[in-house]
Amino acid sequence: MGRLIRWAAAGAGALFIGLVGAPPASGFDGFGDATADSTYDVEIRFMVELQGASPDRLELLLRTPGTAGSFVTPVEPDDGSATYVWDTATDHVTPNTLVTYRWRAINGDEVVLGPEETVRYEDDRDGLDWRQAQLGEATVHWYGDAEAQARRFGELTAVGVEQAEDLLGTQLAGPVDVFVYDSREDFFGALGPGAREWTGAAAYSELRTIFMWLGGGSAAYLEVAMVHEVTHIVFFDATDNAFHDPARWLNEGIATWSESGDAGDQRGIVEFEASGAGLFSFEAISQQFPIGERGGQLSYAQGTTMVDLIIDRYGREAMAAIAAAYRDGASDEEALEAGTGMPAAELYAAFYAGFGVDAPEPIQPAPIAASNVDRPTAGPIDEGGVDVDPPTPPDSSPEEPPIDGADEVPAPLLLSLALAGVVAVAGAVWVARRARERSR
Ligand SMILES: [Zn+2]
Repeated sequence: MGRLIRWAAAGAGALFIGLVGAPPASGFDGFGDATADSTYDVEIRFMVELQGASPDRLELLLRTPGTAGSFVTPVEPDDGSATYVWDTATDHVTPNTLVTYRWRAINGDEVVLGPEETVRYEDDRDGLDWRQAQLGEATVHWYGDAEAQARRFGELTAVGVEQAEDLLGTQLAGPVDVFVYDSREDFFGALGPGAREWTGAAAYSELRTIFMWLGGGSAAYLEVAMVHEVTHIVFFDATDNAFHDPARWLNEGIATWSESGDAGDQRGIVEFEASGAGLFSFEAISQQFPIGERGGQLSYAQGTTMVDLIIDRYGREAMAAIAAAYRDGASDEEALEAGTGMPAAELYAAFYAGFGVDAPEPIQPAPIAASNVDRPTAGPIDEGGVDVDPPTPPDSSPEEPPIDGADEVPAPLLLSLALAGVVAVAGAVWVARRARERSR
């Protein structure tokens, strides 16, 4: 979505230039019918009829949920109408995205805005004969033989919503769609190329949409995942603000905690890592989790056990107070203190002390060693009359003597290679513990 915002900014600049250079008004006489149609993974096509002569400049304004501004694109009129095609084959758009659009004509000093319209980008791939049912706040969608499972997900949505509302002290702000996919190919085709390979379910809170894959795990796993995902949407509503996303470890921590109402087996993961490679600082997992499975799982586990600590020591009402502070625009640290009465730093310290470890310290970057790449012998080389100097190695720090031979590897590098090997082996043993869904 970030790209849309940048395009919107570029579009605004283009509009200004258009207005300055505009000739006097001519015969544009307003918009006729505006329509839009989409084909999944191909395009969203916007069309409008133009009455009278073409305007000096014609633009289409596009907006998707969760973005503050519009993407503005100029469109060339063609004999009484205009068409713009959004190529979604190269620019992935998540299914069920509701696109808001309106046309804008600039003619001399006059700006004419067409009515605001919407088009829903549906997953209409071949073979997906969607059917749907309404269950409370949820609309469940399925194809093939998945009706019973889909209806069960709808019931679980209600359960998850109710317990998250109770914990966070708010109400769900709108309806939720749940799409149930049968095959892995269909499911990952919906999530797009950015999805992690180990994802089995995903919530897109700004779209109020949950995607479930029936092959993502056992029936018991899928039921737990359903509660987890819908908790994300309640959390999104409970913390909605114009300034920033709440800490990711808190978002995932609450969703995972809500699966069973306690830290469950997440505590064991933190204990294991605390006695080995160590834990993450909470600042380090407030926005993105590591890409690797092991680092990702530790991030979830730390979030879940921290949520458990807060509820255990300060009561469930602390979570509602934290959510309320976010709605008022609090930073992560301010929200944690508003909920617990404890400065965030003390809360973090209490967490690490509970696992018998010190809080992690920032790691200083190691100096970059001199190049050990084979180089041509020193001295000018005659190449067809042109003097070519051998490439100069980058400056090395005075403490680090340059390396003479290509066979030598600096000791710090050898040490880090050895450490990486130890970590890799430990990781490989440990990664098998739990293959789980994780989502945004
Ligand atoms: Zn999650």
